[in-house]
Amino acid sequence: RAAADRIGAETPTGWATQTRPRIGDGFANTQDTDPALASNQAWAEAIRERLPAPELGAETLSAATVTTAEAVDEAIGRAEAAGRAWAATPAAERARLLHRLGDELEAARADLIAVAADEAGKLIDQADVEVSEACDFAHYYASLALEEVPGARRVPPAVTLVASPWNFPIAIPLGGVAAALAVGSAVILKPAPPARRIGAVLAEACWRAGFDPDLMCLLIVDDGDLGRTLVTDPRVGQVVLTGAAETAELFRSWRPDLPLLAETSGKNAIVVTASADLDLAAADLVTSAFGHAGQKCSAASLGILVGRVARSRRFLDQLLDAAASLKVAWPSDPGAELGPLTEVPGDKLLRGLTELGEGERWLLRPERIDERLWRPGIRMGVRPGSEFHQVEYFGPVLGLMASDTLDEAIAWQNGTAFGLTAGLHSLDAGEVQTWLDTVEAGNVYVNRTITGAIVRRQPFGGWKRSSVGPGAKAGGPNYLHVLSRWEPEASRA
Ligand code: GLU
Repeated sequence: RAAADRIGAETPTGWATQTRPRIGDGFANTQDTDPALASNQAWAEAIRERLPAPELGAETLSAATVTTAEAVDEAIGRAEAAGRAWAATPAAERARLLHRLGDELEAARADLIAVAADEAGKLIDQADVEVSEACDFAHYYASLALEEVPGARRVPPAVTLVASPWNFPIAIPLGGVAAALAVGSAVILKPAPPARRIGAVLAEACWRAGFDPDLMCLLIVDDGDLGRTLVTDPRVGQVVLTGAAETAELFRSWRPDLPLLAETSGKNAIVVTASADLDLAAADLVTSAFGHAGQKCSAASLGILVGRVARSRRFLDQLLDAAASLKVAWPSDPGAELGPLTEVPGDKLLRGLTELGEGERWLLRPERIDERLWRPGIRMGVRPGSEFHQVEYFGPVLGLMASDTLDEAIAWQNGTAFGLTAGLHSLDAGEVQTWLDTVEAGNVYVNRTITGAIVRRQPFGGWKRSSVGPGAKAGGPNYLHVLSRWEPEASRA
């Protein structure tokens, strides 16, 4: 069954007007996964048997080893040659191989989930959703590869570097790889170091689908000097980055003229007004804040409660109960709802988990079970302009702000450097319109969670400091256009 068939009816890109049907834990992409699989205990058991992750073949293991400067240089040279040939390959052939890649990913589903759980601490259901998203990227970009502009031809750069993050270690690298291959560019995939084995399993799927290892080259590079070598090599024609805003800024400082398409950090809030369905708002806040332990650029880090919502004991109790009752466990527990951090928290996240700012108090104090496993926290009384209002922590901690009016709430929601996702819970059409007219975020969601964008239906990308470069959204109709140029056929002469 082609993933394209599963995507369903098109809705306006970027936002959904209503709560969508929920399956499993409510993560949006889950509906693209076969519900029988997602909820099937036997399936969870099959994956559990693969934990710790399946034995990787010798070739994969060597591919997953940190490489040398010589190997980087040689790989770029080979990718450049492969990319030139690939650009001349008919679009139909590129699309055919990308559809095969989608099928190979589906076939590798259990291995991808097991490695993501073992290496990056992804919970089984959340890794499952990611595999679906990766398949959707492959099939969707295959369909976009067939687009034509009369009298023009697509001109891709020979080599695209895809620098991918560890928080979505399956879908995000695969999306970048599939997009670059779709436009006719060779790819160098550099996964984040905590997700290098997953990168190797993805690369294997690409190779099995028929993409040559020179054309889809996996390079395991630490984030030090070799990373800089890769980014600054003039043969690398463009970089697709998903990562921290600081990383994008670092890349630009290394190479000011770098063609860069980056989706970066977020500091996202959900505004809840007194007209909202408060039961739903509490559930959506908790899901958006604590999915993947808050390690999502899209996660809700702030809840801005308007007027009497901030004083509603019932609402606060519900929020507290919903967060406190999440089952915090390692991925080997199929009932886990809040899993481990991928890495031991650094100073910034530790501050977020342990220190209160002025005027703040814990509604639910985060609790350390293990260095990487934390019960979630909710702080109240976050003040506009404070550290918690401004900083992205990337962990299981939510802050609540109390505003007097919707206008004030929107000003606080917009009042960060970022503009990635934003949510509103309100059943008042006037409030919804006011909010839509003024909110500053790439992905805006009304009366639902703010994570889990869906390929083609809700392309994903931000504004302000959440985006660097031309700003096309991943999984959207413009993405391939910014990764290549269209030139008049005549210019071939
Ligand atoms: N696309 C993911 C979502 O919509 C977020 C990606 C990220 O956090 O980097 O939740």
